Amino acid sequence: MAKTLKAVVIGAGMAGILAAIRLKEMGHDVTVLEKAARVGGTWRENRYAGLHCDVPAHAYTYSFAPNADWSRYLSPGPEIQRYFEKVADDYGVTPLIRFDQEVAEARWDDATTQWAIETKSGLKLDADLVIAATGVLHHPKMPEIEGLESFTGTAFHSARWQDGVDLSGKRVGIIGNGSTGVQIVSALAGVAAKTVHFQRSPQWIMPVDNQYYSDEQRAAFRADPQLIDDIRYNPEYEANVRRFSRAINDMESEEIHQIEWAVANHLETAVADPVLREKLRPNYRAACKRLIFSWDYYEKVQRPDVDVVTAGIERIEPAGVRDRGGNLHELDVLILATGFHADRFVRPINLIGRGGTALNDVWAKRPSAYLAVSVPDFPNLFLLNGPTGPVGNFSLIDIAEKQMTYIEQLIDRVAAGEIRAASASREAFADYEERRIAAAKGTIFASGCTSWYLDAEGVPASWPWSYDAFTEAMDAPKLEDFDLAA
Ligand code: NAP
Repeated sequence: MAKTLKAVVIGAGMAGILAAIRLKEMGHDVTVLEKAARVGGTWRENRYAGLHCDVPAHAYTYSFAPNADWSRYLSPGPEIQRYFEKVADDYGVTPLIRFDQEVAEARWDDATTQWAIETKSGLKLDADLVIAATGVLHHPKMPEIEGLESFTGTAFHSARWQDGVDLSGKRVGIIGNGSTGVQIVSALAGVAAKTVHFQRSPQWIMPVDNQYYSDEQRAAFRADPQLIDDIRYNPEYEANVRRFSRAINDMESEEIHQIEWAVANHLETAVADPVLREKLRPNYRAACKRLIFSWDYYEKVQRPDVDVVTAGIERIEPAGVRDRGGNLHELDVLILATGFHADRFVRPINLIGRGGTALNDVWAKRPSAYLAVSVPDFPNLFLLNGPTGPVGNFSLIDIAEKQMTYIEQLIDRVAAGEIRAASASREAFADYEERRIAAAKGTIFASGCTSWYLDAEGVPASWPWSYDAFTEAMDAPKLEDFDLAA
């Protein structure tokens, strides 16, 4: 007879909702602790103008909850937020969530083989297992630019969007041209009176046809969900995922050269003005930084009301941004699309594992986890979308589902009483890290650029092998790689 385990899921974003659904289906007693007042994670926090997912909508969907109603090939952020809210309701997760409960600490007790969890507001819970579904990019990175606080207009980070600020007819500056900055500029061009894009490093842009689904198409999806599967599991799409995976994981591959050709051709054919074209041309290889997919950025930056400033930022003044060429760009609003601290993961939660081991110490050099899901000395603590997982332009839903399938197999053994607790062994973790770091050096992320993919030592922090290798690794846990408290 399998035991009902007490499970705590930290975070009610995409991965936390998934974990709660699966654990509930397995018959466990699930509580989800969510720091905010709503579900949605990154889709709740990011509400910036132009927000879209750059993974096709029907692939960025739980495999068990297809959605006939996506309006476009790449879905807009608010639709994704509504989707997660609906799934959480439909699958009975919402009542399991304790909102406004930010976890402060989780401490393992070897005697009881349980986690003692405490939230900032003093709620205390015990759990047989913990799923940390705390997201990847959730600590906004503010730029260190002289004079930022002196700006007399409105300034905010892209992930702290101020809904009350009407940008129409305003002079708006956007610092940063990662996926976020590019989407914001595309959305504001023609809405703001003036859109000024401050670009420190140019980005390669992959064109994408972001077609709308017609009412007839959506009705057809509703009538026959197989049509959705035909998109999601389309052999051409799946082949593309594999090709992309080969491209990023091998900087000498044929596939990465094809991507390089495609983005260079896009720049050449889509930007008419040779001066602007050179401003937009990166001096590093395509996909070294996360590849940006856009259907309209090049079109929008050629508008007369949009400026791309490449002179660099000297300082911020009360009236606007002074560039290194001495020009003052007067602004009403300044949007900081300057990214996130990508090395936080489950932190700042104080996680204390076996023998008083602090996760913060284990991760002092770099955050990592065996196969991205388990950390030695942290028994029955499993990470979804944890460090070293595949994060480059893939559907993180697909990744989280595969990770959950893997984790479930360990949980089943605990529930069956075969083992009391599981965490990756130090040897298996060390071997994984050695192989991962060696492989990471051959990925396109290591080909000579700066990006949030690199850890503090400049080593790419994501899964360096193929998508198929990841799928295979998530197929079944190798028990010999785990410490199993019998
Ligand atoms: P990001 O990729 O880290 O980009 C930050 C940008 O800010 C870069 O252009 C960076 O320039 C610039 N920057 C940072 N500090 C600066 C400073 N002091 N002065 C001038 N420029 C500065 O952040 P992001 O655009 O928010 O995207 C982060 C990730 O979120 C993406 O890679 C993606 O994984 C995810 N995302 C996904 C979607 C989606 O559609 N699914 C949308 C948005 C974001 P440098 O390049 O020179 O460092």
